[in-house]
Amino acid sequence: MPRRCTVCDDPERHSIDEILVTGAPYRSVAKHFGLSESAVYRHKTDHLPAHLLKAKEVEEAARADDLLEQVRHLQGRALDILERAEKTGDLRTALAAISQARGNLELMGKLAGELDERPVVNLNVSPEWLELRAVIVGALEPHPDARGAVLRALEGNGSA
Ligand SMILES: [Zn+2]
Repeated sequence: MPRRCTVCDDPERHSIDEILVTGAPYRSVAKHFGLSESAVYRHKTDHLPAHLLKAKEVEEAARADDLLEQVRHLQGRALDILERAEKTGDLRTALAAISQARGNLELMGKLAGELDERPVVNLNVSPEWLELRAVIVGALEPHPDARGAVLRALEGNGSA
């Protein structure tokens, strides 16, 4: 089992992360929230990047969903205008509406593609990976040099 992090478990984790992101010294953050300095330091180096990455992914996905919804709405309006223009024989408006609708379709296709290309597995937060990582690090406990090298390699990889 990975070692528990008092900062991750803290109900105020989001506020703590926000303050750490502003570059506030971890010592004063620890003092302010009544946490140990080493815990805040470890959290800042080991966990904060993963949290930020995840928050960014969620935010981007939400934004894409929102855009898709707006384009769908526009598409409904364009098709509506097309129908009315056709009824009244207003070919110029009908053509403009068709062109608009085609653009909307392209945009919807792109947005939908982006939504589907969302990474399904984020290695840094996958429980299997975290477990495996803990096993590797634990197995190297009697070999501090190798353990340090492996940890550095894993962390370098994780933040990429
Ligand atoms: Zn943490």
